[in-house]
Amino acid sequence: MEKKCNKCGEVKGLDEFSNSKNEKHGKSVWCKSCFKEYNIQNKDKRKEYDKKYREKNRENIKERYRENTDWHKDYRKKNEQKIKEYKKKWTKENRIKDNLNSKKWRKNNKEKINKYFLNRRKTDILFNLRNNIKSNILSSLKRNKYTKKTKTYNILKCEYNFFMHWLNVRYRRFTNRSRRSKLTSKNRR
Ligand SMILES: [Zn+2]
Repeated sequence: MEKKCNKCGEVKGLDEFSNSKNEKHGKSVWCKSCFKEYNIQNKDKRKEYDKKYREKNRENIKERYRENTDWHKDYRKKNEQKIKEYKKKWTKENRIKDNLNSKKWRKNNKEKINKYFLNRRKTDILFNLRNNIKSNILSSLKRNKYTKKTKTYNILKCEYNFFMHWLNVRYRRFTNRSRRSKLTSKNRR
């Protein structure tokens, strides 16, 4: 398909005309190169015009700005709950994004992270303990070739509830013993 430009009068292919919703066939009446030329020639003129317009309408523009900010304030007041929910949603969605980004970050900052871990392990006893337990569990799982998909029953070789009960009993015995030993050491003094 071809089209005649209204300005230079040349017949050109359709892709030589930019899209325009306002025109009949969805294409502008001037060809692209005519538009380009026109824009270059009128750049200074338009700048001048814009400047004059702003000077002339300074008060009007200010007034409009004030109205806008008032409207925004009003809107915020009226839609407080809506905005709160929107913010909450936004934070939630962005936390997922942040996590993905931090994965990348961790990859690129291995040395920095290692330094941080070493330092914290030296200064924070609980952090150290937690990490030791974590890595012990992990290595034990690895040693036995368990994965995330392995059923808990296969790892424990018993039902989960039974295991928790057993842990509880052991824990109570352990704490009783340490309490008793504390008491006896106190009595000895
Ligand atoms: Zn043209």
